[in-house]
Amino acid sequence: MLAEPGPACGRFAPSPTGPLHFGSLIAALGSFLEARAQHGQWRVRIEDVDVPRTAPGAADAILRTLESYGLLWDGDVWFQSQRTERYQAALEALSRAGRLYPCTCTRRELAGCQRGADGSPLYPGNCRAGPRQPGRPHAFRLQVGDACLTFQDAVQGERHQRLASAVGDFVLRRADGWFTYQLAVVVDDADQGVTEIIRGADLLDSTPRQLYLQRLLGLPTPRYGHLPIAVDARGDKLSKQTHAPPLDDQNPGPALWQALRFLGQCPPDDLLKAPPAEILDWALTHWRLNRVRAIVAHAAK
Ligand code: GLU
Ligand code: ZN
Repeated sequence: MLAEPGPACGRFAPSPTGPLHFGSLIAALGSFLEARAQHGQWRVRIEDVDVPRTAPGAADAILRTLESYGLLWDGDVWFQSQRTERYQAALEALSRAGRLYPCTCTRRELAGCQRGADGSPLYPGNCRAGPRQPGRPHAFRLQVGDACLTFQDAVQGERHQRLASAVGDFVLRRADGWFTYQLAVVVDDADQGVTEIIRGADLLDSTPRQLYLQRLLGLPTPRYGHLPIAVDARGDKLSKQTHAPPLDDQNPGPALWQALRFLGQCPPDDLLKAPPAEILDWALTHWRLNRVRAIVAHAAK
């Protein structure tokens, strides 16, 4: 007999670099609805792995905003800054498997390299045979070899990436000692029992690196779905850098309603001014991930 699938578990994993904006609401709401519509859990994790980039007070502000939007999470909120030992253990496992090498190249030394899928330098392998500058602090890079990853995205369809040509050997721990997002996210998603990862399509290029790490670490692979990205009138992704306005904690209804529209759902007009709990009730009964458009971006109102 086939085992019953375990309960679904989704998550929202904001980086506390500033307040939530309409773009972050899309990811929060999409992940919440996909998990809860399956009667699953929805977890919140604060991705403060890159401590120097976190803004004081931002994590608290994010949690207050989620509460005022009725997006109430299960269990305790996790903070990546408290999980360093788990990341270290994963790094050591990969090191024992012979997959890591120290790299002493600085950002400046790599500035002239060809660019990878996410615009960052495609590492040319300078230190693969040994660090170029042995006395310097070093990062740890993962050897990607000729791995080619394929996955079925629940929104974007089938995707492929050859790691060597798209991202190259990537960093798991930086020379300044901080672990990177790619390693932390994989360890945390597994430790939290996450089965559904619904997030913005700006992370689509990261997914193959995460699948590869899961494979090397013997971790289960969740289901992925990448939502279209909200852009402003100039076509730039809503973000702190593009000065996206913060969500209004006092008046959540209109943004929730707009976010549902953005996700291809059709909330009735009379819900526009309803309290968040009522909007979310409607959304949970009517939620259909397959109504979300593939990657076209649309301006936020
Ligand atoms: N912390 C990441 C961000 O805010 C999201 C990570 C994820 O959902 O995997 O962009
Ligand atoms: Zn190097």
